[in-house]
Amino acid sequence: MTATSSLSSQSASRPDPGTVLQGVPVVAGVAYAPVIRPGRLPEVDVSGLPEVAEGDRAAEGERFTAAAATVAGRLRDRAAHATGAASEVLAATATLAQDRGWLGAAEKRIKEGAPAARAVNGAIDQFVEMFTKLGGLMAERVTDLRDIRDRVIAELNGLPEPGVPLPDSPSVLCAEDLAPADTAGLDPAVIVALATTLGGPTSHTAIIARQLGIPCVVAVHGLDDVPAGTTVLVDGTLGTVTVTPDESAAQDAVAEAARVAAAAADWSGPGATADGHQVAVLANVQDGAAARAARETPAEGVGLFRTELCFLNTDAEPTVDEQAQIYGEVLEAFAGRKVVIRTLDAGSDKPLKFAGHPDEANPALGVRGIRIAENNPGLLHHQLDAIAAAAEKSGEQPWVMAPMIATAQEAESFAAQARSRGLTPGVMIEVPAAALLAERILEHVDFLSIGTNDLAQYTMAADRMSAELATLTDPWQPAVLALVAMTVRAGAAVGKPVGVCGEAAADPLLACVLTGLGVTSLSAAAAAVQGVGAKLAQVTLQQCREAADAVLGTASAAEARAAALAVLG
Ligand code: PEP
Ligand code: MG
Repeated sequence: MTATSSLSSQSASRPDPGTVLQGVPVVAGVAYAPVIRPGRLPEVDVSGLPEVAEGDRAAEGERFTAAAATVAGRLRDRAAHATGAASEVLAATATLAQDRGWLGAAEKRIKEGAPAARAVNGAIDQFVEMFTKLGGLMAERVTDLRDIRDRVIAELNGLPEPGVPLPDSPSVLCAEDLAPADTAGLDPAVIVALATTLGGPTSHTAIIARQLGIPCVVAVHGLDDVPAGTTVLVDGTLGTVTVTPDESAAQDAVAEAARVAAAAADWSGPGATADGHQVAVLANVQDGAAARAARETPAEGVGLFRTELCFLNTDAEPTVDEQAQIYGEVLEAFAGRKVVIRTLDAGSDKPLKFAGHPDEANPALGVRGIRIAENNPGLLHHQLDAIAAAAEKSGEQPWVMAPMIATAQEAESFAAQARSRGLTPGVMIEVPAAALLAERILEHVDFLSIGTNDLAQYTMAADRMSAELATLTDPWQPAVLALVAMTVRAGAAVGKPVGVCGEAAADPLLACVLTGLGVTSLSAAAAAVQGVGAKLAQVTLQQCREAADAVLGTASAAEARAAALAVLG
């Protein structure tokens, strides 16, 4: 058997001490700790493993049972520490790791003399073939089966677990990219920062990292050459990873960041500039647990409830009652406060198994968001019914908004369906066409919420998941901010609220610029709420307006940032 793990693989071109690697900042803050990396899949040459002598087979079987139980136990632990979709994904994988079917098949092979690793490989192959033939939902579990195989084989060989390790001491997790479920399952007490080689600033992985509230930098050039064990300083504000920095300078940077964070921690809302111009600071949430956590912050309400994230691992469309129960939890957490529920934004990088997505060459430009309702109107009807039911039961009055609206006609149709259920309708402005015709859209809806993540992607014609194009998908791009300005003007003209709920609202400096442009609310991950509120409280509306004017006159995202910094400090 040969096996490798990235923990033991060292790069030939390890960067010199003090090298500063540049990436794209995602979550502010500074951390200084050694690097850990996800373990790679064990490479197993099972055919080369010798048969087990008859007298040793019982012990080999016990070794296998213990390894499978350890893997399942670790997955269950991680499920217990995660929330929402991540917890469900991890719990389901833990259950599969203890499934009698494949365990029995492996035990049988061991009894016949196969060494445990070969037995695991053979049994999983058998089940992969069976699941694949069954097709549909069973076929979708093939990846989970393979994941379990790799974990059990690593355990049998005393190798680090493939996937994200669970360190005992504070560590910086560096990876090429991270699956959202892995990121959400992390414990922010031991994983003190994230840095990835891939991923854009608005990828959903980055969004979940923000929810964890640890510094995060993505699209870091050269990060792959930094081996595990190297001490690094991650600056989530500047977007840098410094390799083996001077220790006392690194400690000073951490202390300074802690001082800024402590100052933000004193901010208790409500959102307003130093001279009293009010801008509601709201939270983005994805389920009841996240809403209850957000309620612990000064967030004044929920500006974006991403409902699709509740169902990422759900096979069949949840019933109206099931949905109403989930939405009700969020309404209850923010009783008496503003809650904006977004209808399913399924598709592209957030496919839902029950949404019947067509096979598309270019899903980000395909049937996603409100477009899924075209061929499947029942999905939207049932969801609106569920939101109305949750509203009635709780006595709350949530607002509802549709994602990916491109035309005034789509807005009109959505608004009619929401109003017929007594709900207050709005739409997201994520497509340049909608920003350009915001005025006409506002004839039908009561509010707009700008999704700067997708607005940047579609304005700049740059995939939000692409690391190479991260500079283009930066929400500081003047063209994106020009569309924000246009949308805000349309709202102001008719006295209807226009908020921002994309990642732009989570950047304290950019939040001030958005305020200067005239947005009426800022909705960000709960972890970002205090930083945004505290920064806003330090500047005047006039400064925000000056910064907004300056930014609109620049030629790049970097120039825009510098221009805002010059005015806002
Ligand atoms: C956005 O596009 O800015 C947004 C808030 O929606 P999501 O990130 O869920 O696509
Ligand atoms: Mg979006």
